[in-house]
Amino acid sequence: MRLIRSDGSPVQLGAVLASAGEGAIHEVLGHPESVAKVFHADLKDLSGKLAKVQAMIASPPDGAVQSDGFVVLTWPTDLLSDGSRAVGYLMPRIDTSDAVEIHTVSNPSNRANPLPTAPAWTPNVTWSHLVNVAANLCLAVDIVHRVNAVIGDFQERNILVNDTTRVTLVDCDSMQFIDSTGRQYLCGVARPEFTAPELAGMDLARTARGKPSDLFALAVHIHLLLMAGNHPFLRGEWTGPGEQPDALTLAASGQWAGGPGSALRTHPLAPPASFLPHAVQQLCTRAFTDGAHDPTARPTAAEWRETLLGMQLGTCARGHQMPVEADPCPWCHIDDQRLARRSARASYSGRSTDQVVYQVSTPMPAYSSSAQPVLSYPAVPPTAPAPTGNRNLFIVLGVAAAAVLALVLVFLIPSNQKSDQETMTATSRGLDDSYTTSTARSTVTSTTRSTVRSTVAAPPPRVPAAPPPNAKPCGGPVPGIYSHSAAGSDLTSCPFAMSVRDAVNATGHPDPRMVNAYSPVTNKWYAVTCVVEAVLTCRGGNNAVVYVY
Ligand SMILES: [Zn+2]
Repeated sequence: MRLIRSDGSPVQLGAVLASAGEGAIHEVLGHPESVAKVFHADLKDLSGKLAKVQAMIASPPDGAVQSDGFVVLTWPTDLLSDGSRAVGYLMPRIDTSDAVEIHTVSNPSNRANPLPTAPAWTPNVTWSHLVNVAANLCLAVDIVHRVNAVIGDFQERNILVNDTTRVTLVDCDSMQFIDSTGRQYLCGVARPEFTAPELAGMDLARTARGKPSDLFALAVHIHLLLMAGNHPFLRGEWTGPGEQPDALTLAASGQWAGGPGSALRTHPLAPPASFLPHAVQQLCTRAFTDGAHDPTARPTAAEWRETLLGMQLGTCARGHQMPVEADPCPWCHIDDQRLARRSARASYSGRSTDQVVYQVSTPMPAYSSSAQPVLSYPAVPPTAPAPTGNRNLFIVLGVAAAAVLALVLVFLIPSNQKSDQETMTATSRGLDDSYTTSTARSTVTSTTRSTVRSTVAAPPPRVPAAPPPNAKPCGGPVPGIYSHSAAGSDLTSCPFAMSVRDAVNATGHPDPRMVNAYSPVTNKWYAVTCVVEAVLTCRGGNNAVVYVY
């Protein structure tokens, strides 16, 4: 098929890469960096959709595509017409070969047991990598919020993570966008477990959301990443009256697992929030406790990112990664709890009620926009699956097999069915806690140890080795974890870049959060924070950017 760009130049479409409710995604012949989305001609409100896309094209957020070509947002880049009318748009093509949806990373069981067709790197992910993923997710949200856009349907299927912990948000044309004239293009869908409490009961097809609603979902995603896949409003020990309320009800009352004044206590097999650095705990409290009644109290993505990148990580005697402040090690405690429970079960044949596992059922229905309120609060959510729109399009581009998530069901495992839980969890890919199995536990523990003590910087198998093309290499190879360094900005001197490399090597860790490095140019010491991007990237000092690899 031949279409025309806004400047009149022709575009030749190639094979269909994915097809879903709203349209089809094609490759673009001669332009491997782009794909074309062509809407179905009979799509409901096609003209509104095209107007929204056109408005988005006119206001691209800075950083949607990074200087090294990495795509953070699949933001529309150009309108396509068939000669008489607009039919679709171009957007950056993403490499999905090593990407997985974020739940595959945040959920320990998903991570440890990738499907045969899914990328194989996830079992090597350490807690340090999870912190990086969280920081990179913050970057993506920060970029969206640079323009008048709100992610809206900010759920795990729209977030892809690659094997260097970098994050891409897909399905951007479903985001809420307000153009320069004030015309609102809304996002009518939401998932209750990622929906900010102030939106409960709202008709999202007619209500503009504020950016703080994204910041609620961001905090939930960060919690899932850092807390072994435990959702702050779904898993805990309910100590209040009656049954544990649903997630949206708890969120509205500011009660989250282990939060201040919360009747939902930390589950015995989940890490307590108290193991996180005080600054991170404070952000959680602002997001979930204060933010329940005052959305503006929630930390911004930039605040989260800065705090996460400032964390110092250490290891316990058994080799678990954790913040240096953590005492005792939460992962050791959970291991010990599990061991004790297994021992107790071996001598007790009664029905066990101590284990709660979140398991996947069918793909999660999105909540559609309709005449009815999208989210009724506190009523039971609607059960009819809604059109999934184009959210699945990208998923099929290579991560379909990993995309099995999911409505969350809670059930109790009778003890007579868990002889042993390895079988149960090996086949379960939901929001369960992989530490329920000795298989998963040993995998996690050993990879934690091997990664921490080895020289591997990022999740194997594809260890990134090259800095962005515009980086300026500095000095020859040296012995150590990293042999090379490069300057990433004009304000970065090579002597300082080499000094940062040496400081990183001196930590003995492949991805330290922060190092102090001496600049022979200014004769001063500078603190730089480091995060794994294409390679380990350290920023700080006088706007210095140093790549270490
Ligand atoms: Zn430990």
